[in-house]
Amino acid sequence: MEKLEKAIAQCSSLDALEKIRLELFGKKGHFAEEFARLKHLQGEEKKEVASTLNAAKEKFTMLLAEKKEQLELGKMDELMQKDAQDVALFNATLGAGALHPVMETMNKIIDYFVGMNFSIEEGPLVEDDFHNFEALNLPKHHPARDMQDTFYFDDGMLLRTHTSPVQVRTMLSQKPPIRMICPGSVFRRDFDLTHTPMFHQVEGLVVDAAGKVSFANLKFILEDFLKHMFGDVTVRFRPSFFPFTEPSAEVDISCIFCKGKGCRVCSHTGWLEVLGCGVVDPNVFRAVGYEEVSGYAFGLGVERFAMLLHQIPDLRSLFEGDLRLLEQFR
Ligand SMILES: [Zn+2]
Repeated sequence: MEKLEKAIAQCSSLDALEKIRLELFGKKGHFAEEFARLKHLQGEEKKEVASTLNAAKEKFTMLLAEKKEQLELGKMDELMQKDAQDVALFNATLGAGALHPVMETMNKIIDYFVGMNFSIEEGPLVEDDFHNFEALNLPKHHPARDMQDTFYFDDGMLLRTHTSPVQVRTMLSQKPPIRMICPGSVFRRDFDLTHTPMFHQVEGLVVDAAGKVSFANLKFILEDFLKHMFGDVTVRFRPSFFPFTEPSAEVDISCIFCKGKGCRVCSHTGWLEVLGCGVVDPNVFRAVGYEEVSGYAFGLGVERFAMLLHQIPDLRSLFEGDLRLLEQFR
């Protein structure tokens, strides 16, 4: 037994250790033989031998386990030495990341309105007819509800076509005064140079007691906002039509590329159309149960702003994830 104890202590490989283990605990090993001999013994002697054997068995089990752990650790060390790499050799340069131009533009827009004390509201991307159309004075026959423009689900739900349903939800859950913007992605069935099936909008809504909010307030804030975004531009309001506002206007800025002289980007008009706005239609307030209030609303496409700010000619390129393009905005 002393010999085996010594062998375990000097053992240098897991294979050799396993051999010793079999010698001790195998079917024909030392302990099997010794325990077999017990049946020829009787009484006190049998008891004594059995207890000595059990103690020895316990001792060797422990010795084997300790040695095994020691050998395994040694093996791991050896593997680590073999696989070790010289980290000082690693020399690939990792480029610094940057915000996508759409997000960067979105942040610039949000910054302005947060500074003007607007709250940021959010809502679901999957909407129902009431919040996306009905409550916004979009009657059943309105072309914007056409299947061509809207992604519908089988159960009548749809992907929101604008962020306006967030305004409806906010008005339904809060009382005026409201001063909010709702930034987020919207979805339409369109795909060409200036349209993608998903794009981003920021819409704004201000509601207060009747007579407190006017078109003049709207005009002031949008002029100030557009100068914040595009610098020293001339802003003009053109009468337009939206179902949810009356009166409505489209807003142009003097072309930032030709300073109003006329170029390819502005189709030689000297003006760039940048957003839509108006005084909230009473039907919208009626749909959300507001009485005796006044308000204005506006909406813009973030990609349009990003394209103008960075002179990107094709809207689709913003969504292709091409690093050659994106790296230019670092
Ligand atoms: Zn121009």
